[in-house]
Amino acid sequence: MSHALFDLTGRIALVTGSSRGIGRAVATGLAEAGATVVLNGRNSERLSSTAAELRSRVGADRVRTSAFDVTDPSAVDEAVGAVESEIGPLDILVNNAGFQHRQPMLELAPQDWDAVLRTDLTSAFLVGRSVASRMVARRRGKIVNICSVQTALARPSIAPYAAAKAGLAGLTRAMCAEWAGYDIQVNGLAPGYVETELTAPLVADEAFTGWITGRTPAGRWGRIEDLVGPAVWLAGSGSDFVNGQVIFVDGGMTAVV
Ligand code: NDP
Repeated sequence: MSHALFDLTGRIALVTGSSRGIGRAVATGLAEAGATVVLNGRNSERLSSTAAELRSRVGADRVRTSAFDVTDPSAVDEAVGAVESEIGPLDILVNNAGFQHRQPMLELAPQDWDAVLRTDLTSAFLVGRSVASRMVARRRGKIVNICSVQTALARPSIAPYAAAKAGLAGLTRAMCAEWAGYDIQVNGLAPGYVETELTAPLVADEAFTGWITGRTPAGRWGRIEDLVGPAVWLAGSGSDFVNGQVIFVDGGMTAVV
């Protein structure tokens, strides 16, 4: 990638939940655009094998790892501090870690509600605040929050996820409101249905896949690579006057009824 607006050479990016799936693709894209990337997840073994594969593509010195749980406030602060002192100042944060718990609301245990809210919403507040406190002092930074079509739409059995992802859009705007004056841009990317481990049970369901391909104007599931271009754009200087927005990357799903 050669255009200056998409050139991330010399930038340092932390992508939460990047041991697999969308986070891994986004981290790969940022690294291929020139950034040094810090991969994150809870499973160190998996993180190491993802890092090894990425190093073989972009070089050993531009791929680092930081294993921590994004829902643990003290682990987050400790890890962000360690990344900044060992690797350098973070220019880019992608809040991507997330998970899904599918169950009808009338059967949902409060602890399952809490677990989804903590992972899909509170984590962005925790990691975002920790990283932004340093970006504010430097007066520059890019934060990308990975939302969902469930930011705007709902389906049965996903109440905490829909609530968390709608909340994440609100948090994106609140971060913009508080930090735009420090030259920090905070935006959301809202993927449609993308084939990953998270959606494996849905991919295996023929009826659901039929519904997805019919409901999505593009006529297909999303691919992890679909998020790379938008993420690189939001992380680079080409999007410097874009702030507080949620951009849907969904093949048109939320544009049509
Ligand atoms: P995957 O399940 O494939 O990957 C999730 C990643 O998050 C893994 O690297 C996992 O690593 C990490 N993770 C989960 N919980 C934590 C935690 N508490 N602390 C640190 N890391 C964690 O998911 P996807 O790639 O599909 O999803 C990525 C993001 O995109 C999520 O926010 C999801 O909601 C969103 N999204 C996904 C869509 C889809 O259709 N796939 C559609 C719309 C949005 P580990 O388990 O080792 O911790």
